[in-house]
Amino acid sequence: MADILKDIQKDLPKVISSAGFEAANIVLYTDDPEFFKDNNGKIKELVNKFKKRIELRADEKLLKNKEEVEKMIREIIPEEAEITNVLFDTQRSVVVIESKRPGLVIGKSGSILKEIKDKSFWTLQIQRSPAIESKITENIRAVLYQTNNLRKKFLNVVGKKIYKEWNPEKVEEWIRVTFLGGGRQVGRSCILLQTPQTKILLDCGINVAVKGKERFPYLDAPEFKLNELDAIVLSHAHLDHSGLIPYLYKMGYKGPIYMTMPTIDLAALIALDYIGVAYKQATTPLFSSTDVKEMVKHTICLNFNEVTDIAPDMRITFYNSGHALGSAITHINIGNGAHNLVYSADFKFIRTRLLDRAISNFPRMETMIIEATYGGKDNILPSRNDAEEQIVNEIKKTVENSGKVLIPELGLGRAQETMLILEEAMRLDKLPKIPIYIDGMIWDINGIHTAYPEFLNSQVRRDIFQNKNPFVEEVFKRVGSSSERKKVIEGGPCVVLATSGMLVGGASVEYFRHFASNKKNKICFVCYQGSGSLGKQVQEGVKEFKMNIEGNEELIEVNMDVVTIDGLSAHAGRTELLDYANRTQPKSSKIIINHGEQSRCLDLASSIYRLHHIETVVPKNLETVRLR
Ligand SMILES: [Zn+2]
Repeated sequence: MADILKDIQKDLPKVISSAGFEAANIVLYTDDPEFFKDNNGKIKELVNKFKKRIELRADEKLLKNKEEVEKMIREIIPEEAEITNVLFDTQRSVVVIESKRPGLVIGKSGSILKEIKDKSFWTLQIQRSPAIESKITENIRAVLYQTNNLRKKFLNVVGKKIYKEWNPEKVEEWIRVTFLGGGRQVGRSCILLQTPQTKILLDCGINVAVKGKERFPYLDAPEFKLNELDAIVLSHAHLDHSGLIPYLYKMGYKGPIYMTMPTIDLAALIALDYIGVAYKQATTPLFSSTDVKEMVKHTICLNFNEVTDIAPDMRITFYNSGHALGSAITHINIGNGAHNLVYSADFKFIRTRLLDRAISNFPRMETMIIEATYGGKDNILPSRNDAEEQIVNEIKKTVENSGKVLIPELGLGRAQETMLILEEAMRLDKLPKIPIYIDGMIWDINGIHTAYPEFLNSQVRRDIFQNKNPFVEEVFKRVGSSSERKKVIEGGPCVVLATSGMLVGGASVEYFRHFASNKKNKICFVCYQGSGSLGKQVQEGVKEFKMNIEGNEELIEVNMDVVTIDGLSAHAGRTELLDYANRTQPKSSKIIINHGEQSRCLDLASSIYRLHHIETVVPKNLETVRLR
């Protein structure tokens, strides 16, 4: 067994007081102040030689007193940077500075950072504070960055495991993926990736549209044992991908989970909201806020394009998937290049108002797993422009006729897109100036968007950098309490954006109940409706249904106008999917299709094979595909 820490130190003068891992990163601590200030390119040489991220930090002994350093930080950094928080992580010799304008903290080519670093011996990390205050982002950063011995130990254990059998020559003899959920269906996405040495879970979601056992992935499959799991990789924060993860921590999983920075904020928020909705429906939630916190504590955040070892024989890189804030396509290099798997999860292959389109160039790829939400023959989506025009016109007709419009939204992604469309339509006088109410967790999610402009497309990023926050325009009114909600329900023409998107719990159901019987009102479906959900039934024309309200059964008539607008989906439509299969660089030799209703998956598979001559597989749940 090779010991990478020893190998690295062999090449260094005797200035290293300790060395350890932060997951796949190697951190060297020095007690030599001169070496800390200037290591003469030594560290860079090591990075090139070992092809690992290696960071040099000062030993705790060298660190200047915290109060002094905080004073220094606030003196040296210009006031316009608007520092909102300074968090000291003594265990790791790191100080995290949160600021509204990180560029001003860093200074010209890092000059300010360097000055503070040389004077204080702390290593500085800069983060952007959200323009809309976000409690969840604050809490998560406190858990991840405040002086925390447990966190340091955890990261070191993860690193030790990754480098345990460190052997750059090793090639894996077999690789397989088992579909524990999301095979020929939408919801409960969960894939187990295995080699003789490693077991990784790609997503672990729930199917919110159904009740009972069908809601969860097959965690009782013989291949799957929680205590043997090495890592979880989460593509994005939607419940059908993330929903069951806190439960895995509740059941005793103690390993790492990899995702992007926005995704942890969003996944924690969405999980907490899910607990809240369960209580409102008088059911016992699957997990508690303690379990959500466990998930946060075990999270390792990666940026897009950052190559990271997650096991001795697996290396992942996240790429933008264009689906929702922080959503990622995962490239997995298995067994030192023996096989390259790309897991698209949910993606969009055209630019939207918020995001750039999915990345389609990869270093290498043999197999790709792609979604088929809109993969069916009939799923040719109308153009974005047509769809936008359609929703604006539908709203216009209704409000001019004194009605109210309800748009049930997924809190993440779709809702923000709709907000941008409506704001523009009003600005250009395509819509009368009526209030747009935002209910449910959408508002908090807007705040998280403003903390991560670098994950948004260039247009929105520019707006946020210039302090023009697209989500705080006057037309948007936040509904924060039940009395405010009552006012909206009893008030005049308006548009309401509320979660959940499929009318399964959340504020949207509340509005729907009150709006449904009046034929002047309208409901616009803009996101995918899972079979079994109330949303799907209404979409298919149900005229009345029973609802349990505070213990009493109430019969609700549906007289309101029901419209579905397909072209606004955050998923790739059929044309985009076929295009993607053909246009990735390099082209995949095999495409595995999941995350779509059975007929749509099969349709997409046969079309890809016929048009682009690529082998396709459409596994059912519990089926395994061998990659090598
Ligand atoms: Zn999604």
